[in-house]
Amino acid sequence: MDQLCAHATVKVVAVTDHNTLEGYARVQELASAFPDVLVIPGIEVGTALGDLILLGVEEKPPRSLGVNELIGFARERGGVVVVPHPYREYGLGAATRLYTVDAIETLNGNASPQVNRLAQDLAKELSLPGVAGSDAHNIDELWTVCNEIQASLDVDAILGAIKKGLVKVFSNRKSISF
Ligand SMILES: [Zn+2]
Repeated sequence: MDQLCAHATVKVVAVTDHNTLEGYARVQELASAFPDVLVIPGIEVGTALGDLILLGVEEKPPRSLGVNELIGFARERGGVVVVPHPYREYGLGAATRLYTVDAIETLNGNASPQVNRLAQDLAKELSLPGVAGSDAHNIDELWTVCNEIQASLDVDAILGAIKKGLVKVFSNRKSISF
């Protein structure tokens, strides 16, 4: 696994707090002073079966939704649906196979290599792109992983590239790499 993040310039960050967009709004505000940094809106939403990350969505679901309803909510807003940490706590697990999602988080900064490997296997089986997410809940957990995406610096272009699988994941920490 290449150790890329530490040497690369981060140009894009997606903020996907649990069930709120307040953090995104705050980061967006702070990032406005840096025109070369793009912030992708997003939210991680819990369902009875597991969490889903909706990228490109700037709205919180009005109430608790089932997985299919939540996917519909994201699609109506042009969002990309990612299954985070499928085999960790609050993961969708094997049920992922029952739904039409856009990508699987194959590298989670807070999951063991074994659990990340299961997520990679699932992405392969379903022919879905794999993305990395730090799952940071504290400042020192940021930048543990990153994505290299072949797209221009534009939210829609980036979301489109993720859907097409034009994304490579990288880890900064050997402990969580493959
Ligand atoms: Zn989660």
